[in-house]
Amino acid sequence: MSREDYEVVIGLEVHSELSTKTKIFCSCPTEFGGEPNSHCCPICMAMPGALPVLNKKVVEYAIKAGLATNCKIANISKNDRKNYFYPDLPKSYQISQYDIPLCTDGYVEIETENGTKRIGLTRIHIEEDAGKLNHDEYSRGSLVDLNRAGVPLIEIVSEPDLRSAEEADIYLKKLKSILEYIEVSDCKMQEGSLRADVNVSVRKKGTKEFGTRTEMKNMNSFRSITRAIEYEAERQIEVLEQGGKIEQETLRWDEVSGKTFSMRDKEDAQDYRYFPDPDLAIIKISDEMIEKIKSELPEMPENRRERYIKEFNLPEYDSNILTSSKYISDLFENAVKICNNPKAVSNWIMTDITRILNEKEQEPNEIPFSAEQLGELVILIDKGTISSAIAKKVLEELFENPRNPEEIIKEKGWIQISDEGAIKEVVLKILEANPQSIVDFKAGKDRALGFLVGQAMKETKGKANPQMLNKMFLEELNK
Ligand code: ADP
Ligand code: ZN
Ligand code: MG
Repeated sequence: MSREDYEVVIGLEVHSELSTKTKIFCSCPTEFGGEPNSHCCPICMAMPGALPVLNKKVVEYAIKAGLATNCKIANISKNDRKNYFYPDLPKSYQISQYDIPLCTDGYVEIETENGTKRIGLTRIHIEEDAGKLNHDEYSRGSLVDLNRAGVPLIEIVSEPDLRSAEEADIYLKKLKSILEYIEVSDCKMQEGSLRADVNVSVRKKGTKEFGTRTEMKNMNSFRSITRAIEYEAERQIEVLEQGGKIEQETLRWDEVSGKTFSMRDKEDAQDYRYFPDPDLAIIKISDEMIEKIKSELPEMPENRRERYIKEFNLPEYDSNILTSSKYISDLFENAVKICNNPKAVSNWIMTDITRILNEKEQEPNEIPFSAEQLGELVILIDKGTISSAIAKKVLEELFENPRNPEEIIKEKGWIQISDEGAIKEVVLKILEANPQSIVDFKAGKDRALGFLVGQAMKETKGKANPQMLNKMFLEELNK
């Protein structure tokens, strides 16, 4: 048997930190960072006798996420204690949800090579995040920082419906985009606001039964997830091909070696002894509350995509890319409000802005300039104040030190030369320096004109108005 005879099966448990102002069971701030243990109180530090109070916003945000992913919302739900010991978990239990999660039976649609595919969601539940251990700083031991303890999370558990690393990647990006659209999480993966436990198994094609899965916890980069799935699938196939058995276990993905390693604690050996938290009341959710949240859901990516095609006459391709990130989509719409040139804004975003983001390895929400500044840039091109060659330089400048584009071109002396006299001077100078091009042009070689215009652009450092150059060269050459 070979690789092609196997099928990969993947299910993701995605943890997303909610962007409520305060923590899930106390009024400490959820803000990332800060001096260690400065965002804490007796409740999130688990002082004996401290009592949790559920933050209503957390329930609302989770319902929002459930509605945006086609889930059923429970009318009655509760919080349970998940008991385990780890130094970053001060209570020795995590408050989570066990048998009655807030949201169940949803799905997310992803676009794959073979069309639209539905990925089932088993459930979405709320829980509290743990603290962090700082291992490196002091060689004497580990220090615990509880700023993150009690930050609200939703856990979104998918069905094992994904069939390749690529599908998992598309699914995760789609989920991230949905969470950003409904503004329940900032989804900053580098800060751990979005992280996934990745479950992988393989089976022979055509088999009904799933194979035994392994799990890689807390992964927070798209690239590592893709690599880890590919590696782990290969490893499992090899084990099976050699007559071995896959153990259900938690693995650690090592980015440097590109391999997975056993962490030796067998998943089913864990007994979390779940039971309802006696300090917290039952969560009651009225149909009115669900309806209210539903009515407040913003326009989702699919709807925006359709609207861009109709309202702005954009190709489906553009619309897809622009709406894949809420940040980009908002940037686009707000820039269009300024300059009223959707296709131009779309082109800038899809080509130069995307290229620069890739070079800088930055996320769209790290773009330093505003939609207004992008809109102004397009206006300057449309008015003929700057050429598109100069506009590219202005864009680079906007990334480095964002300010009004008009200011940038004044400061740098980049205003386009559209003065007839000045253009004529350049044209004559270039013609005099290139007699062969004149001969070539007269002999019917049209390329000579392009060459001359190029030389004139070089001479003026890209500042000459290209249309005027073209026109004037033609006039002179045809004399
Ligand atoms: P646990 O918390 O013990 O890992 P959950 O039921 O919360 O269990 O999550 C299990 C995850 O593993 C789900 O995302 C599910 O889709 C996935 N999964 C279950 N069985 C398999 C399998 N055979 N292969 C791949 N993924 C699986
Ligand atoms: Zn607190
Ligand atoms: Mg798991």
